[in-house]
Amino acid sequence: MINNLKESLVEEKVNTFFNVEAVRKDFPILERTIYGKPLVYLDNAATTHKPKVVIERLKEYYESENSNIHRGVHYLSQLATNKFEETREKVRKFINASSVKEIIFTKGATDSINLFASSFGRKFISEGDEIIITQMEHHANIVPWQMLCEANKAVLKYIPIDDNGELILSDLEKLITPKTKLISFLHVSNSLGTINPAKEIISIAHKHGIKVLLDGAQSIQHSKVDVRDLDADFFVFSGHKIYGPTGTGVLYGKESLLNELPPYQGGGDMIRVVTMEKTSYNELPYKFEAGTPNIAGIIGLGTAIDYVNTIGLENISNYEHELLVYAEKKLLEIEGVKIIGTAKNKAAVISFVLEGIHPHDVGTILDSEGVAIRAGHHCTQPIMQRFGIPATARASFSFYNTMEEVDQLALAIKKVFEVFK
Ligand code: PLP
Repeated sequence: MINNLKESLVEEKVNTFFNVEAVRKDFPILERTIYGKPLVYLDNAATTHKPKVVIERLKEYYESENSNIHRGVHYLSQLATNKFEETREKVRKFINASSVKEIIFTKGATDSINLFASSFGRKFISEGDEIIITQMEHHANIVPWQMLCEANKAVLKYIPIDDNGELILSDLEKLITPKTKLISFLHVSNSLGTINPAKEIISIAHKHGIKVLLDGAQSIQHSKVDVRDLDADFFVFSGHKIYGPTGTGVLYGKESLLNELPPYQGGGDMIRVVTMEKTSYNELPYKFEAGTPNIAGIIGLGTAIDYVNTIGLENISNYEHELLVYAEKKLLEIEGVKIIGTAKNKAAVISFVLEGIHPHDVGTILDSEGVAIRAGHHCTQPIMQRFGIPATARASFSFYNTMEEVDQLALAIKKVFEVFK
């Protein structure tokens, strides 16, 4: 594949409105060194670091608010419940959902997709029904559907990708049949950086009466997501990828659709009345929230959303785009670097391979320089199969990364070539 990006790259000026040095001070971990060298953290698609306000919020919760929620009449239980529910409203506003009833807390995007696949699958997928995904999905949006299709004797199809890592959308209409019940696809690819035309795909699906789940694990932290504008039926994301704690996530669903779905897990909180004979279920969103959730984590997620709002998603997306353009330019100046994923619309994720060198060796040498990238298949083995490679090295950026860190990445890559010469 030819890297035709080179010609199209434009020298862009650093966004003078965005003070990255001030922002970096909010993230204590960025001050640390690795093997005596400053940390250059470029593994943000795997997880993002946490600002001090989030870390302190967790501490504050455990020091002065810790209690179980929704069950107690005592002060602390009500306090914890209120703080927990405040996050629900913050998430609602953040993604522009209609009601807090549409916001279900989970452990993360994987948990959200599994919840949805199990519940939707039980009610709506029977023998011969069809589900469409894409060739660029994270395993979290492949395996639950394969498991469901195997159990219910349904058929899983996928939209293929082209050499640039873009969906071959002209194939979508050909894949749709009267048996198609669901299209589930990612908004932004964690391996290729491709931003998919979500609104267009959703509109095609709806034209055929098909429901859509959108995996926002890699979009929520980079630009504004408006579930109502997209008209997404269901939307998922992970808290830890948007500067919040691990073990937190969200499943959004339109209220009318969630009301049609059966509960996922059984247990405390999701019930209305239990007798030894039968159970009636709680209303939304609690119907889908069995057991004690990650209370501290969800409260911390609320603080992370406040923090992101303070920085501003527009600033984030503009600045990260500048990082992407600069990083692609720097990498392509190095002989022997090939970028995998050259879609026109990309988030700040760059997968690359170095001629004749295994990505794991690239990752190890970069690590010795203090540069943290990811090497592997990034939980997207079908993408690797599509491009005929075992793995890639991947640099993924956040708004706290700097142009100087991009220079460090480029220097470290040159070092890899020197070592292997
Ligand atoms: N979907 C995409 C596109 C992802 O990138 C990821 C994680 O990298 C997931 C789903 C799963 O997220 P989690 O591991 O937080 O559940």
